[in-house]
Amino acid sequence: MTRRFTKAEAAEFFARLQALDPAPRTELQYVNPYTLLVAVVLSAQATDKGVNKATQPLFQKITTPEAMVALGEEKLAEAIKTIGLYKGKAKNVIALSKILLEQHGGKIPEDREALQALPGVGRKTANVVLNVAFGEPTIAVDTHIFRVSNRTGLAPGKDVLAVELALEKIVPDAYRLHAHHWLILHGRYTCVARKPLCPTCVVRDLCRFKDKTKELPPQKPKLAKPAKAKSAKAKTAKLRKPSAARA
Ligand code: SF4
Repeated sequence: MTRRFTKAEAAEFFARLQALDPAPRTELQYVNPYTLLVAVVLSAQATDKGVNKATQPLFQKITTPEAMVALGEEKLAEAIKTIGLYKGKAKNVIALSKILLEQHGGKIPEDREALQALPGVGRKTANVVLNVAFGEPTIAVDTHIFRVSNRTGLAPGKDVLAVELALEKIVPDAYRLHAHHWLILHGRYTCVARKPLCPTCVVRDLCRFKDKTKELPPQKPKLAKPAKAKSAKAKTAKLRKPSAARA
């Protein structure tokens, strides 16, 4: 059986991730707690980059639940149509904006139960909002954190809730506020899903993963841009053109 992390090892693990990025931030763009909530709802099964591309122009005009309700579901769906599952997400964002206006004076509640009662808001979304907008030391377990926690042996668990509870037990208080950002960044850029970059990993001596990679994947060569292929139509036109000799 894999030896469990001690508190001292967990502290060392996070101290090293902290040294790489002392003040990590979410990669989702937002301008206030309301737009953060909307961005996190839109990010379900989508990349932060893809969400930012759609929300950048949207959040220049729409930053409050009132403005979102005035915009309406149809126009919102049009604005976010590049994001997966956009129709359902547009419906949820309009519905949650109405509830914020009717029940919370247009403000984002600082309370897990009230957040999770909003359409499209699950435990992970509530944890992100509580952490990023209100500075609570919550840990939102996404696919990266789930993988890193299990693979390293830091906080193994069968499902996201089990991993969240295991992390709550093992992460020292001093690192709790930023723990989920450090784990996400580590999973996104180093402990990646298919071939983790173990040779350059700062926690490799602490990590319990048995199949650590020994080499970094080869860099993709930069190929020169191929010359534009002539279209079939142009080629056909050229073939049909009578030659000077025949004319
Ligand atoms: S050593 Fe490899 S498997 Fe372990 S945390 Fe680092 S990148 Fe991930």
